[in-house]
Amino acid sequence: MDRRQSLKWLGGLSAWILPVVASGPSLAGTNGRLEKSKKEWRELLPPAAYRILFEEDTERAGSSPLNHEKRDGTFVCAACYLPLFDSATKYESGTGWPSFWQALPEAVATRTDFKLILPRTEYHCSRCGGHQGHVFNDGPQPTGKRYCNNGLALRFVVRGETLPELRG
Ligand SMILES: [Zn+2]
Repeated sequence: MDRRQSLKWLGGLSAWILPVVASGPSLAGTNGRLEKSKKEWRELLPPAAYRILFEEDTERAGSSPLNHEKRDGTFVCAACYLPLFDSATKYESGTGWPSFWQALPEAVATRTDFKLILPRTEYHCSRCGGHQGHVFNDGPQPTGKRYCNNGLALRFVVRGETLPELRG
């Protein structure tokens, strides 16, 4: 094999190997995502928060103190502390869960679930994958969206206070 041929061969090999390496077990930091096992999260979080965030439980309607939170500030993921919602998009939906008409840019990702037979759009923190709630199309303008969030999956940081450092 001459030099040109071997370089071509190496190039082909790395194109094949690099994606395999990148999808290995240690992903934290490589793409902004935080990868932890359910066991690790169970040890870090209070049981009720763990069940919502990583077992897709739903808290009882009307149970969250965040329903009545009307101050300016930021709602961050209770698991990894990524900012998910700004108080400017919170509104009273009357459902008994903290509700928002818009998430912060790229803060949440969605997927369809069939837990109640009919399809619903589940959404979760884009960084740690922690389940937050469901999004519906009956919210107020300008988006028409209703992000119906479990209060236990959020932590509120009042404006002026320092946001917690992202959990590593
Ligand atoms: Zn998170």
